[in-house]
Amino acid sequence: MGCTAKDVIAALRAGAAVVAEHRDELIQLDREIGDADHGENMERGFRAVVDKLDTSAPETPGAALKLAATVLISTVGGASGPLYGTALLRAASAAGDAEELDATAVAKLLRAGVDGVVARGKAELGDKTMIDALSPAADAAGSVAESEADGVKALAAGAEAAHEGARNTEPMVARKGRASYLGDRSAGHVDPGARSTALLLSAFAESARA
Ligand code: ADP
Ligand code: MG
Ligand code: MG
Repeated sequence: MGCTAKDVIAALRAGAAVVAEHRDELIQLDREIGDADHGENMERGFRAVVDKLDTSAPETPGAALKLAATVLISTVGGASGPLYGTALLRAASAAGDAEELDATAVAKLLRAGVDGVVARGKAELGDKTMIDALSPAADAAGSVAESEADGVKALAAGAEAAHEGARNTEPMVARKGRASYLGDRSAGHVDPGARSTALLLSAFAESARA
Protein backbone atom coordinates (compact mmCIF):
# COMPACT_ATOMS: atom_id res chain seq x y z
CA MET A 1 0.00 0.00 0.00
CA GLY A 2 1.22 3.48 -0.73
CA CYS A 3 0.34 7.08 0.04
CA THR A 4 -1.49 8.99 -2.67
CA ALA A 5 -1.99 12.76 -3.01
CA LYS A 6 -5.29 12.32 -1.18
CA ASP A 7 -3.50 10.59 1.70
CA VAL A 8 -0.86 13.33 1.89
CA ILE A 9 -3.55 16.03 1.92
CA ALA A 10 -5.41 14.20 4.70
CA ALA A 11 -2.12 13.81 6.59
CA LEU A 12 -1.40 17.55 6.35
CA ARG A 13 -4.88 18.27 7.70
CA ALA A 14 -4.27 15.83 10.54
CA GLY A 15 -0.97 17.61 11.20
CA ALA A 16 -2.80 20.92 11.45
CA ALA A 17 -5.25 19.40 13.93
CA VAL A 18 -2.52 17.96 16.13
CA VAL A 19 -0.51 21.17 16.35
CA ALA A 20 -3.68 23.10 17.19
CA GLU A 21 -4.52 20.55 19.85
CA HIS A 22 -1.01 20.77 21.34
CA ARG A 23 -0.60 24.51 20.89
CA ASP A 24 -0.41 25.29 24.62
CA GLU A 25 1.98 22.43 25.31
CA LEU A 26 4.33 23.63 22.55
CA ILE A 27 4.10 27.19 23.85
CA GLN A 28 4.96 25.97 27.35
CA LEU A 29 7.98 23.98 26.12
CA ASP A 30 9.19 27.02 24.19
CA ARG A 31 8.59 29.28 27.20
CA GLU A 32 11.04 27.16 29.17
CA ILE A 33 13.94 27.37 26.73
CA GLY A 34 12.88 29.86 24.05
CA ASP A 35 10.41 32.67 23.45
CA ALA A 36 7.09 30.91 24.01
CA ASP A 37 5.84 31.14 20.44
CA HIS A 38 6.39 27.69 18.95
CA GLY A 39 2.77 26.57 19.48
CA GLU A 40 1.52 29.78 17.95
CA ASN A 41 3.93 29.59 15.00
CA MET A 42 2.97 26.01 14.22
CA GLU A 43 -0.75 26.59 14.59
CA ARG A 44 -0.69 29.66 12.38
CA GLY A 45 1.42 27.96 9.73
CA PHE A 46 -0.63 24.80 9.52
CA ARG A 47 -3.93 26.69 9.62
CA ALA A 48 -2.69 28.56 6.54
CA VAL A 49 -1.79 25.22 4.92
CA VAL A 50 -5.34 23.97 5.50
CA ASP A 51 -6.79 27.23 4.13
CA LYS A 52 -4.70 26.80 1.01
CA LEU A 53 -5.75 23.15 0.65
CA ASP A 54 -9.39 24.25 0.83
CA THR A 55 -8.95 26.18 -2.40
CA SER A 56 -6.54 24.02 -4.35
CA ALA A 57 -6.25 20.37 -5.25
CA PRO A 58 -2.64 19.20 -5.61
CA GLU A 59 -2.62 16.09 -7.76
CA THR A 60 0.50 14.30 -6.55
CA PRO A 61 2.05 13.72 -3.11
CA GLY A 62 4.95 15.93 -4.19
CA ALA A 63 2.65 18.80 -5.18
CA ALA A 64 0.82 18.61 -1.83
CA LEU A 65 4.12 18.66 0.08
CA LYS A 66 5.35 21.58 -1.99
CA LEU A 67 2.18 23.54 -1.31
CA ALA A 68 2.63 23.02 2.44
CA ALA A 69 6.30 24.01 2.23
CA THR A 70 5.56 27.25 0.42
CA VAL A 71 2.79 28.22 2.83
CA LEU A 72 4.89 27.47 5.94
CA ILE A 73 7.84 29.45 4.64
CA SER A 74 5.65 32.47 3.92
CA THR A 75 3.51 32.40 7.09
CA VAL A 76 5.81 31.31 9.93
CA GLY A 77 8.25 33.98 11.04
CA GLY A 78 10.17 31.88 13.58
CA ALA A 79 13.12 29.60 12.93
CA SER A 80 10.77 26.64 12.61
CA GLY A 81 8.91 27.97 9.53
CA PRO A 82 11.86 28.03 7.12
CA LEU A 83 13.20 24.79 8.63
CA TYR A 84 9.94 22.84 8.28
CA GLY A 85 9.41 24.52 4.93
CA THR A 86 12.82 23.37 3.71
CA ALA A 87 12.18 19.84 4.99
CA LEU A 88 8.89 19.68 3.09
CA LEU A 89 10.36 21.26 -0.03
CA ARG A 90 13.17 18.69 -0.12
CA ALA A 91 10.65 15.93 0.58
CA ALA A 92 8.54 17.24 -2.32
CA SER A 93 11.53 17.09 -4.67
CA ALA A 94 12.31 13.57 -3.50
CA ALA A 95 8.71 12.57 -4.22
CA GLY A 96 9.03 13.93 -7.75
CA ASP A 97 5.86 13.31 -9.74
CA ALA A 98 5.16 9.85 -8.31
CA GLU A 99 1.44 9.14 -7.88
CA GLU A 100 1.95 6.99 -4.82
CA LEU A 101 4.64 6.63 -2.12
CA ASP A 102 5.75 3.18 -0.97
CA ALA A 103 8.01 2.47 2.03
CA THR A 104 11.20 3.19 0.10
CA ALA A 105 9.79 6.51 -1.09
CA VAL A 106 8.65 7.47 2.43
CA ALA A 107 12.11 6.70 3.80
CA LYS A 108 13.70 8.71 1.00
CA LEU A 109 11.38 11.65 1.72
CA LEU A 110 12.23 11.68 5.40
CA ARG A 111 15.96 11.48 4.65
CA ALA A 112 15.64 14.36 2.18
CA GLY A 113 13.79 16.34 4.84
CA VAL A 114 16.55 15.76 7.39
CA ASP A 115 19.21 16.76 4.87
CA GLY A 116 17.28 19.94 4.09
CA VAL A 117 17.00 20.96 7.74
CA VAL A 118 20.70 20.25 8.27
CA ALA A 119 21.67 22.23 5.17
CA ARG A 120 19.59 25.17 6.33
CA GLY A 121 20.16 25.13 10.10
CA LYS A 122 23.54 23.39 10.44
CA ALA A 123 22.42 21.41 13.49
CA GLU A 124 23.89 18.00 14.26
CA LEU A 125 22.42 15.11 16.19
CA GLY A 126 22.55 15.93 19.88
CA ASP A 127 22.24 19.71 19.42
CA LYS A 128 18.72 19.56 20.92
CA THR A 129 16.69 20.49 17.85
CA MET A 130 14.05 18.98 15.59
CA ILE A 131 16.92 17.01 14.00
CA ASP A 132 17.00 14.81 17.11
CA ALA A 133 13.46 13.64 16.24
CA LEU A 134 13.63 13.78 12.45
CA SER A 135 16.91 11.95 11.93
CA PRO A 136 16.00 8.83 13.96
CA ALA A 137 12.65 8.88 12.14
CA ALA A 138 14.41 8.70 8.78
CA ASP A 139 16.67 5.89 10.06
CA ALA A 140 13.71 3.88 11.35
CA ALA A 141 11.72 4.33 8.14
CA GLY A 142 14.81 3.29 6.19
CA SER A 143 15.18 0.03 8.06
CA VAL A 144 11.49 -0.80 7.73
CA ALA A 145 11.72 -0.11 3.99
CA GLU A 146 14.37 -2.84 3.67
CA SER A 147 11.77 -5.52 4.37
CA GLU A 148 8.38 -3.82 3.93
CA ALA A 149 6.71 -2.25 0.91
CA ASP A 150 3.97 -0.47 2.83
CA GLY A 151 4.68 3.27 3.07
CA VAL A 152 2.35 3.60 6.04
CA LYS A 153 4.43 1.11 8.06
CA ALA A 154 7.61 3.03 7.31
CA LEU A 155 5.91 6.25 8.41
CA ALA A 156 4.59 4.65 11.60
CA ALA A 157 8.06 3.37 12.52
CA GLY A 158 9.44 6.83 11.80
CA ALA A 159 6.86 8.45 14.06
CA GLU A 160 7.66 6.09 16.91
CA ALA A 161 11.38 6.79 16.59
CA ALA A 162 10.66 10.53 16.49
CA HIS A 163 8.83 10.36 19.82
CA GLU A 164 11.75 8.57 21.41
CA GLY A 165 14.14 11.07 19.83
CA ALA A 166 12.10 13.98 21.16
CA ARG A 167 12.08 12.53 24.68
CA ASN A 168 15.85 12.09 24.43
CA THR A 169 16.32 15.84 23.93
CA GLU A 170 15.37 16.49 27.56
CA PRO A 171 18.84 16.14 29.14
CA MET A 172 20.62 17.73 26.16
CA VAL A 173 22.28 21.14 26.22
CA ALA A 174 21.12 23.16 23.21
CA ARG A 175 23.77 24.12 20.71
CA LYS A 176 21.55 25.64 18.01
CA GLY A 177 18.64 28.04 17.92
CA ARG A 178 17.32 30.30 20.65
CA ALA A 179 17.63 27.66 23.38
CA SER A 180 21.42 27.67 22.91
CA TYR A 181 21.51 31.17 24.46
CA LEU A 182 20.68 29.49 27.78
CA GLY A 183 23.75 27.25 27.70
CA ASP A 184 23.64 24.56 30.40
CA ARG A 185 20.29 25.89 31.64
CA SER A 186 18.65 24.50 28.50
CA ALA A 187 19.08 20.98 29.93
CA GLY A 188 16.07 19.42 31.64
CA HIS A 189 13.50 20.42 29.03
CA VAL A 190 12.24 18.71 25.89
CA ASP A 191 12.99 20.69 22.73
CA PRO A 192 9.76 22.19 21.34
CA GLY A 193 10.68 21.58 17.68
CA ALA A 194 11.58 17.96 18.36
CA ARG A 195 8.24 17.54 20.11
CA SER A 196 6.29 19.14 17.24
CA THR A 197 8.16 16.93 14.74
CA ALA A 198 7.13 13.82 16.67
CA LEU A 199 3.53 15.02 16.95
CA LEU A 200 3.34 15.78 13.23
CA LEU A 201 4.85 12.46 12.16
CA SER A 202 2.48 10.45 14.33
CA ALA A 203 -0.48 12.46 13.07
CA PHE A 204 0.67 11.79 9.49
CA ALA A 205 1.08 8.07 10.23
CA GLU A 206 -2.30 7.72 11.96
CA SER A 207 -4.01 9.58 9.18
CA ALA A 208 -2.37 7.39 6.53
CA ARG A 209 -3.28 4.23 8.43
CA ALA A 210 -6.96 5.19 8.62
P1 ADP B 1 12.00 30.69 17.18
O1 ADP B 1 13.09 29.98 17.91
O2 ADP B 1 12.49 31.57 16.08
O3 ADP B 1 11.04 31.37 18.11
P2 ADP B 1 10.20 28.41 17.00
O4 ADP B 1 9.99 28.64 18.45
O5 ADP B 1 8.98 28.32 16.17
O6 ADP B 1 11.16 29.54 16.40
O7 ADP B 1 11.02 27.07 16.76
C1 ADP B 1 12.01 26.66 17.66
C2 ADP B 1 12.51 25.28 17.26
O8 ADP B 1 13.20 25.34 16.02
C3 ADP B 1 13.50 24.69 18.23
O9 ADP B 1 12.85 24.03 19.29
C4 ADP B 1 14.32 23.74 17.38
O10 ADP B 1 13.76 22.44 17.34
C5 ADP B 1 14.19 24.33 16.00
N1 ADP B 1 15.46 24.93 15.58
C6 ADP B 1 15.94 26.16 15.88
N2 ADP B 1 17.13 26.36 15.30
C7 ADP B 1 17.41 25.22 14.59
C8 ADP B 1 18.50 24.80 13.74
N3 ADP B 1 19.54 25.60 13.49
N4 ADP B 1 18.43 23.56 13.19
C9 ADP B 1 17.37 22.76 13.43
N5 ADP B 1 16.32 23.11 14.21
C10 ADP B 1 16.34 24.31 14.79
MG1 MG C 1 10.14 30.24 19.68
MG1 MG D 1 10.17 33.30 17.96
